[in-house]
Amino acid sequence: MRILLVEDEEKVSRFVARGLKAERYAVDVAADGTSGLDHVRAYSYDLIILDLNLPGMSGTDLLKYIRKSHQHVPVLILTARDNISDKVQNFEEGADDYLTKPFSFAELLVRVKALLRRGPVTNSTTLRVAELELDRVVHKVKRGDKNIDLTSKEFSLLEYLMINTGRVLSRTMIVEHVWDQSFEGLTNIVDVYVRQLRKKIDEGHERKLFRTVRGVGYSITEDGA
Ligand code: CA
Repeated sequence: MRILLVEDEEKVSRFVARGLKAERYAVDVAADGTSGLDHVRAYSYDLIILDLNLPGMSGTDLLKYIRKSHQHVPVLILTARDNISDKVQNFEEGADDYLTKPFSFAELLVRVKALLRRGPVTNSTTLRVAELELDRVVHKVKRGDKNIDLTSKEFSLLEYLMINTGRVLSRTMIVEHVWDQSFEGLTNIVDVYVRQLRKKIDEGHERKLFRTVRGVGYSITEDGA
């Protein structure tokens, strides 16, 4: 999991970055809006933590850029202002959550984990890959006309794969998203769950959607190739 922290107050960024690294996240820090923009353009992040009052480009403008360039990364806004109209404006620009300063690291970590679990932001309630359809509201999955019964973990795993269609996800990424833990021992469980899920989704179909990339991980694609 790679997180970008855009924050000009060194005290805050040091404390947040140190805490997140201790939780085994990879953290890049940008100290102003412009360098935040450079990072956003150059790298792909699982989460962006964004201060609103920044030198250079403002947090709100950076957020606008992120959404305008169709990046679906979740964004957590940090602000000293507890101003309702600011909040409303930034939610409209595409912020996913808010934290008002001062905050404790524990509070931040709860929000970070929740946003990472949710994964890339997508406005659609239905995810589709070929004739496979996942309804995120009623928690139903169909392939063609056939309903597929999944356990809640299988559902979360499939949702994560489908949000990231075409992208190969490592076992570690899957564990962190679906199980919300990051210790090594759990990565074997991913193989077990993928095998079960794959059977339910692909068995009996000529077109296979699941793909295993040896030594790397798993993905779902239109044609499994
Ligand atoms: Ca600031």
